[in-house]
Amino acid sequence: MNLLTDNFISTTKGKISLKELLTSEIDYQLQYAFDEIQLAMLQLLASLSTVVLKPDLDELKGYLNQGLTAEQYDLALENIDLCWFDESCFMRSDFPEGEKTADAAITKMISGIECGTSANALGLFSEVFLANVICPDCAHVLNYNLHMNIKGECFGPTGATGIRGGGALSTLIAGKNLKTTILANTIAVDYFNSVREIDAPNNQFMWQEPLEGNIYYAHQIGLNRGLFALAYHIDFTVLDTPCLCDVCGYESSQSIKEFTRLKYKGSYGSTKNGRDGQAKWWPHPFTPTTIKEEGTFPVCARDHHWQSWQNFLSYVAVKETDKSLSNPAFIIDQYRKLKTGGGNLLIGGNIADQGSITGRVYDLYSMPEHWDTEKLERVEKVIDSGLQVKDKLSQALNKMFGAGYDKNFVSGIKSTAMNQYISNAQKIIQQLLIDVDRTESRMLRKQALAELKTEAKTIYQALMRQYQNDLSLFKSLAKGERILMAVNKVKT
Ligand SMILES: [Zn+2]
Repeated sequence: MNLLTDNFISTTKGKISLKELLTSEIDYQLQYAFDEIQLAMLQLLASLSTVVLKPDLDELKGYLNQGLTAEQYDLALENIDLCWFDESCFMRSDFPEGEKTADAAITKMISGIECGTSANALGLFSEVFLANVICPDCAHVLNYNLHMNIKGECFGPTGATGIRGGGALSTLIAGKNLKTTILANTIAVDYFNSVREIDAPNNQFMWQEPLEGNIYYAHQIGLNRGLFALAYHIDFTVLDTPCLCDVCGYESSQSIKEFTRLKYKGSYGSTKNGRDGQAKWWPHPFTPTTIKEEGTFPVCARDHHWQSWQNFLSYVAVKETDKSLSNPAFIIDQYRKLKTGGGNLLIGGNIADQGSITGRVYDLYSMPEHWDTEKLERVEKVIDSGLQVKDKLSQALNKMFGAGYDKNFVSGIKSTAMNQYISNAQKIIQQLLIDVDRTESRMLRKQALAELKTEAKTIYQALMRQYQNDLSLFKSLAKGERILMAVNKVKT
């Protein structure tokens, strides 16, 4: 199987090739059992499409507007050494001799399933039996996901931190169908290089020309090399026994239940070692970042109560605070530069707590046409107000700690209420983005803010009703109610 010519992409209409996906008029939908793998597949396919097409901005705009023909795809393939995309070597570098490797069940490659011995593996949300066996086609997306999206800590001492830092959020453009989604996340090589301002970096894949040294300097890593940057030597044990793949749902004549790995010893600029060694951050195109005094960091989900709306503007516009500068991912800037319109925003990633994955983010935001900065700033004002309302709700609920009950008991009540607000606010902000092109903006902001305030008050009143027979708690909540009333003063 070769990833640039053969059928390995699982869709609801069967397995297809990258060429079929990019050149056919059929509206394919990906079929993967886990949203995490679905997201990794979008990243992998857009990266493969970049390597094949190597478009400049104008060509990419043409593909997005007029599509791509099978002849164009074949012509592009003529300039590529296909052997590096063969299943036996794609993203697999040779193991050094004499080093001790680590083996694990394939289950370990799906986040949120704990089958290891990590002490802090709590609150996991997928069951081991959900992913026991996979087909050889799916090994590639799991391998890509391991390198780009999974934190090294999840593998304990045998874990490595990849070029994106692990646990980073991804922002992607969601087009009107799968084909335009992959094309809209394909990287315009001229634009990427002009933004980077680096002459002649190494563009060989790491399984073609291995990494050397202890520090993996960003300025030496070209686009092709960085898009598929390795952090592990990896191999999969392929059995000649048929299976029904737990990841794509298709039958296969071969199956995989285990993999072997050995981590790379050097450090990318995504780690402290790398930063200290001046490796610098490699500008991964799907990764929003925060620049601080200590260096550049990928934006990560905070904790499992966090919802993506809380940082919304930092994914789509540069945002400066006293201590940091948030930069949207390259792919977002490129999308604006392309001026093709019609794209929405997909935010995805894992929510990690040390060595555990406690949740996943997979949010789609409908966006105004052309992502007009002025309109997005208006949305940001509502988000700021929504966060102020959240603070007031939190302060009001804090009064419960004076009721004389066990701190953990009160924390539990508070955290349930706060999560309810944060999660419902997500829906209000998403709706606001849908309406921002259609409704007069002042009215719209007013309405969204009113909904956020009502949300906070409704949650609070429900709590007061719940504890009306508990005099001590009820009295504390009544004191807090006065604090909560300050939300009426919050303006957009
Ligand atoms: Zn499969």
